[in-house]
Amino acid sequence: MVLGFSRFDPKVVAFRNDFCLSCGVPRRAHQVKTQNFLTFLLVPIFPLGNQRRWVCSVCNRNPHAQPNLAKIGQWAIVAFFAISSAGAWIGLDDVVATWFGRIVFPSAFFLMLRYTLKSKPDVHLRDKLQEVSPGDEAGCPLCGQALILQNGWQCSGCGVKRMPLRQT
Ligand SMILES: [Zn+2]
Ligand SMILES: [Zn+2]
Repeated sequence: MVLGFSRFDPKVVAFRNDFCLSCGVPRRAHQVKTQNFLTFLLVPIFPLGNQRRWVCSVCNRNPHAQPNLAKIGQWAIVAFFAISSAGAWIGLDDVVATWFGRIVFPSAFFLMLRYTLKSKPDVHLRDKLQEVSPGDEAGCPLCGQALILQNGWQCSGCGVKRMPLRQT
């Protein structure tokens, strides 16, 4: 990778109770502020400004990112292999390609069908967010100092803010 993208100087600026789809349970999420740079051979050359993003405090992923392909996408792949299998049985002029397709596409179809039937149902973020209790910590989860009320709840020690969860 010659040209790249790096985040520097990560700082937790806020936290909130959230639901992490990757972990599958309610988690505390951290809002992390970073300085982003375009990098050339890992050397930062061009500043892209500050970025704030929410990450799960346990797995470090975007808590609202779907970990699996949605069911509709899985069924689309199943349908693709079903049509391809049918196409291979109708036949092509090329005998080798036809037999290759007759073996590979049905195998892929059955594997994908089994995966789709067995994989977990889609998680509806909106429902899961209803389960999250609003934050009621008296102390900062990062440094343990007391939270004080000034423009919203804020840690008196490290300054991180406690944010309400947006229902989106
Ligand atoms: Zn997580
Ligand atoms: Zn703190």
